Amino acid sequence: MIPYDLHIHMILDGVDFRKAIGSHREHPCDALIRSRLEQYHAQGVTFLRDGGDAWDVSLRARELAKEYGIDYRSPAFPIYKKGHYGSFIGRGFSTLDDYRRLLDVLHEKKADFVKLMISGLIDFSRPNTLTEEGLSHEEICQLVELAHREGFAVMLHTNGDRAANAAMDAKGDSIEHGAFFSQETLLRIAKTRTLWVPTLSTIGNLIGCGRYPDAVLQPLLRKQQENVALVAQKGGLIGLGTDAGAYCVPHAEAISHERHYLSSIPDLLLHAAADFVRSKFCPNH
Ligand SMILES: [Zn+2]
Repeated sequence: MIPYDLHIHMILDGVDFRKAIGSHREHPCDALIRSRLEQYHAQGVTFLRDGGDAWDVSLRARELAKEYGIDYRSPAFPIYKKGHYGSFIGRGFSTLDDYRRLLDVLHEKKADFVKLMISGLIDFSRPNTLTEEGLSHEEICQLVELAHREGFAVMLHTNGDRAANAAMDAKGDSIEHGAFFSQETLLRIAKTRTLWVPTLSTIGNLIGCGRYPDAVLQPLLRKQQENVALVAQKGGLIGLGTDAGAYCVPHAEAISHERHYLSSIPDLLLHAAADFVRSKFCPNH
């Protein structure tokens, strides 16, 4: 069993994000957090990287995780640009000055790294479609550079070629999700050894659930698996992260689902990615 998950959201429950967030809205609910940490612990998990939330649930989880022998990393909240994807879970900015203020808040909250939303989501109802293209190349480079200057590594919610190439131009520290990459982008990810956490459970676990057409999901999962295999074969770094808490992605259990979707990737490569995250996604990197 893999003893880590490089992409989770403690605040979410895999079922209903509004209800899940509602349970923590007043203050983080320790009982819920503890029950999930207990599940991870029972499965032998010792390392988790959260994608963050605006209600300090991941920060509270980081505190409690010590009692369960879990090294827990949190970006406090994910940062998004107002008018773009991310408002349901993150904190938004409009100007670069607003963004700088959010970075100050991350310092106050002792965030381990910065999580940035730079693109839309996969539109599971249609083939090959993102909900939006996301931020401009220039903006992405500025945001990552400012975060790096403040000593933070940067985890990037990234779909589509433009966002991925901007992320790499900016020397972003990890690419999350990663739908609809061209061959050229995939080869560049491999060559630059940019960590890619493809969160295949967010696609594969939807197959057969009836919410979206399997005729969209099945070819997409297959394509993503091929892309991941290509990047690994060319020497790239693939990480195991499930996006646990996302719809149909249950905490702890999803690690074995993700391992199954990543069956072409040897354990050793996944472990190298986890080691990279352990050393990089902490302050002053
Ligand atoms: Zn996420």
